[in-house]
Amino acid sequence: MNQSNPTTIKFFSGEELPVELHKVRIVQKLHLKPIDQRLEAIKRGGYNTFLLNTTDVFLDMLTDSGTNAMSDNQLSSMHQADDAYAGSQSFYRMEKALNEVFGKELVLPVHQGRAAENIISQAFIRPGHAIPMNYHFTTTKAHMELNGGKIYEIYTDEALKIKSNHPFKGNIDIKKLVDLIAQYGKENIPFIRLEASTNLIGGQPFSIANMREVRKVADENGIMMVLDASLIGENAWFIKQREAEFANASIKDILRTMCGLCEIVYFSSRKVSSTRGGGICTNSKELFMQMRDLVPLYEGFLTYGGMSVREIEAMAVGLIETTDETVISQSPGFIEYAVKEMDKLGIPVITPAGALGAHVDAMQFLPHIPQAEYPAGALAAALYLVSGCRGMERGTISSVRLENGEDLLSDMELLRLAFPRRVFTLSQTKFLIDRLNWLYHNRELVGGLKFVEEPKVLRFFMGRLDATSNWPEKLVEKFKKDFGDSL
Ligand SMILES: *Cc1c(COP(=O)(O)O)cnc(C)c1O
Repeated sequence: MNQSNPTTIKFFSGEELPVELHKVRIVQKLHLKPIDQRLEAIKRGGYNTFLLNTTDVFLDMLTDSGTNAMSDNQLSSMHQADDAYAGSQSFYRMEKALNEVFGKELVLPVHQGRAAENIISQAFIRPGHAIPMNYHFTTTKAHMELNGGKIYEIYTDEALKIKSNHPFKGNIDIKKLVDLIAQYGKENIPFIRLEASTNLIGGQPFSIANMREVRKVADENGIMMVLDASLIGENAWFIKQREAEFANASIKDILRTMCGLCEIVYFSSRKVSSTRGGGICTNSKELFMQMRDLVPLYEGFLTYGGMSVREIEAMAVGLIETTDETVISQSPGFIEYAVKEMDKLGIPVITPAGALGAHVDAMQFLPHIPQAEYPAGALAAALYLVSGCRGMERGTISSVRLENGEDLLSDMELLRLAFPRRVFTLSQTKFLIDRLNWLYHNRELVGGLKFVEEPKVLRFFMGRLDATSNWPEKLVEKFKKDFGDSL
């Protein structure tokens, strides 16, 4: 590791702790309800943490999507929003920020990340196409398949190991890439997709060295590269920490280097900049024109793309703030702290710590639950029950059912505990770790889940499940025995 995290401070006691380099100026009341009420809530929500209301949630660690804290400068920028259907000054400020931060001149605004995926997929993917990528994201895969494409995840052998000290588990395996191109023919590969801080495998970054190798293969075959930049700030931060060549580079230089290696960069502003919205950026007029006319059709006119002008202003400021090391390292600092503490307690958690959140391995946590009974979903429900903290299932529930009626078992069964930027404090983080530890000591009480209502597309969002036995009641009973009427 090259660099220490500016938000992780050495204490006289010898400890190193993440310290909040910001102060809290607007607060929101949280709800830590008694466990009986939490049991009712998770039953009402069909054992799916997506279906809980935040009035029943204490720490909302479902996602970092649209939940990062806004800065004072972002909030105040909203007052200068220019309400105009066409030609709004707010859009031109956003365009300027993207030009500065990503080094791309041409910008198409969209209402969120998946809308960018819809447009890119419609513009470039045809039936029979193969799309190589380090790993899929749920909405990415759905849009690509809707347009007749097939995705290929060509990650390295290290990517899916839970315990690892590999700094760049998000890298692409170059040999697999070369083989795939030989197999499909370059004419059937519309682009290679790279996802920064690879979301579904634990927020793991790739290196610029790897990007350059991919670029070389792409150039040899005349294939373009598309970067999913939703979590690019954190990936850039890890490059600064872990890739020697960039130890002294600024985040801005790293971002520009990353984006400079790709023809198209798209992002969800819900992640990168704590507002709604997103965008597609390129320096190629030709590529821009292939996508442009889909924006008014699906999103809105070219100078707002389905976003409010207030959000556009805050996005522009948020993008610039992403280049501030004390901002971009805050969430990775807290995640690293949580991962280290969990690891010390023997809780199986993905290492090294990545972006977005701490990822607990449900297959090791709950080895007695078969994958067909959704260990990651069961763990998410159980943790909510014993703590009021809601994480997200990233395992077989987030996968799909095959035509033969069986689940496509996911590569990993993860409970993701997101750390949105500058939202939680250290004592809240300690509470989470403590309750997870209690659950780990009582893990044999947790049982499986089964679907009772299963949507055909993206079933994890709205699907309803039930416990396979009365294990939730038994867990509640044990909790009360150990904690009395404490929350
Ligand atoms: C969240 C996310 C998306 C989708 O963005 P939305 O704004 O939620 O539609 C796409 N790619 C990655 C890597 C993401 O994390």
